[in-house]
Amino acid sequence: MARAQFLILALLSVHVLLGALCLAASRGEREAPALRWWGWGLLAYAAGLAFTLGLVLSKPVANFLGNSLISLSAALTIQGVLHHTDRRLNMPVSLAGVAATVVVLAVGNFAMPSSVAVNIIAPTVTATIFFAYGTAMLLLHPQPDAVRPTRFVAMVLASAMLVWWVRIISMPPLLVEPVDRDRLDMVVSAFAIAQILVGVGAAFGLFWVEVRLAQAAMSHMAFTDPLTGLANRRAILARFDEEAARWSRTGTGLALAVLDMDRFKEVNDAHGHLVGDALLCHVGRVLGQAKRTEDVLGRLGGEEFVVLLCGHQSGGAAHAAERLREAVAAHPMIHEGSRLEVTLSGGVAELPADGTDWDKVFAAADARLYEAKHTGRNRVVGAEPG
Ligand code: GH3
Ligand code: MG
Ligand code: MG
Repeated sequence: MARAQFLILALLSVHVLLGALCLAASRGEREAPALRWWGWGLLAYAAGLAFTLGLVLSKPVANFLGNSLISLSAALTIQGVLHHTDRRLNMPVSLAGVAATVVVLAVGNFAMPSSVAVNIIAPTVTATIFFAYGTAMLLLHPQPDAVRPTRFVAMVLASAMLVWWVRIISMPPLLVEPVDRDRLDMVVSAFAIAQILVGVGAAFGLFWVEVRLAQAAMSHMAFTDPLTGLANRRAILARFDEEAARWSRTGTGLALAVLDMDRFKEVNDAHGHLVGDALLCHVGRVLGQAKRTEDVLGRLGGEEFVVLLCGHQSGGAAHAAERLREAVAAHPMIHEGSRLEVTLSGGVAELPADGTDWDKVFAAADARLYEAKHTGRNRVVGAEPG
C-alpha cells in the first residue's frame, strides 16, 4: 500500500495547506466567514485523515476518531459555502446528525470487530447529506454578484460526492479474498488524487467567489453616493454616455434635469449638519419614489441632484421635472415632531437642442437652474421658460 499511503499523505498535506490558506485569507479588513468555516473544515478533514492512517493509536481508536472528525468536517465546510447563499445550517440538527454518525462509528469500531464498511459508509452518508444540501442551496440561492463561481463550487461539491460513491461501489469486490493488493492500492491512490483535485478545485472556486464579491463591493462603492445611496457623479456620467448612445441610435427623447435644494445652508445653520444630511437623504428618497422607473436619479455632490429623463416627448421632460419638484415640496421631513419644509429649483436641458455631450447639456441645465434661483426659487425652468 506504499503508493496509496503516500498519496493519502499528499491529500492530507494539501488539505492542511489549503485550510491554513483559507484561515489566513479570512482575516483582515474584509471578513470572509465562508473561508473561515471552509478552512476549519479542511483542517478537521486533514486531522481525521491523519488519525485514520493509524500510525500512533490502535486501529479501532484511530478509525473512530478519524472518521468522526471527517464527518464533522463535512458540516464545517458546508456551513462555509452556505455563507455564499442566504441559507445557514440548522446547528442543533447538524450536530445531532454528526453525533449520530459518531455513535454508529463507536458501535462499529468498539462493539463489533472493526468493519471497513462502517468506517467508510457512515462518514460518506453523513457528508453526502451535508454536501447535497450545500450543492442545492448554492445552485438555488447564489449571490447575485457571483453566480458563475458559485455554480462552479456547486459542481465541485457534486464531483466530490460522485468520487466518494464510486469509491464505495468499487471497494467490495476488491476486498474479496484473495485481496488483489495492487488493484486496491491503485483504487485508493486514484481516490486520493480525485480528492486532491476536488479540494483544490473547491478552494479555487471559493476564492473566485470572494474575488467577485470584492469586485462587486468596490464597484458599488465607486458608483454610489455614500450618504444617500443614489448614483454618484461617476455613475451618472457613465449612464449619460450610455443613454446618449441609445438616443443617437433610436432617437428616443433624452433630457437632463439638475435640481438644487433651496436655501439648504440655512437648514444646516439652524439644525446642524446631521439634520442637513438627513434632509438630503429624505429628498433623495422622495425623488426616487416620484421618478419613473426608467429615469436615472443621482446626487452630483452637495445638495444638487440630477435626473436623466429617458424616453420623454419633446417638452415632456420639463413637466416630469416639475412633478419631481412638486413631490419634494409636498413631502416635508418630520424632524423632532415638526415639519421641515424643503423646496427645489431646477433646470432642464434636452438632446439635441441643447447639445449632445455632457458638458453642453449640463451647462444648459445649470444655466436654467441659475435662472430658476434668480426668479424666485421653488420652480423648474425648461427650454421654454414659463
Ligand atoms: P440656494 O437656494 O441658492 O441654493 O442656497 P443654498 O443655501 O442651498 O446654497 P449654498 O450653495 O449657499 O449652500 C449649499 C450648502 O450645502 C452649503 C453646504 O454646507 C451644504 N452642503 C453641501 N454638501 C452637504 C452635505 O453633504 N451635508 C450637509 N449637511 N450639507 C451639505
Ligand atoms: Mg442650494
Ligand atoms: Mg448647490
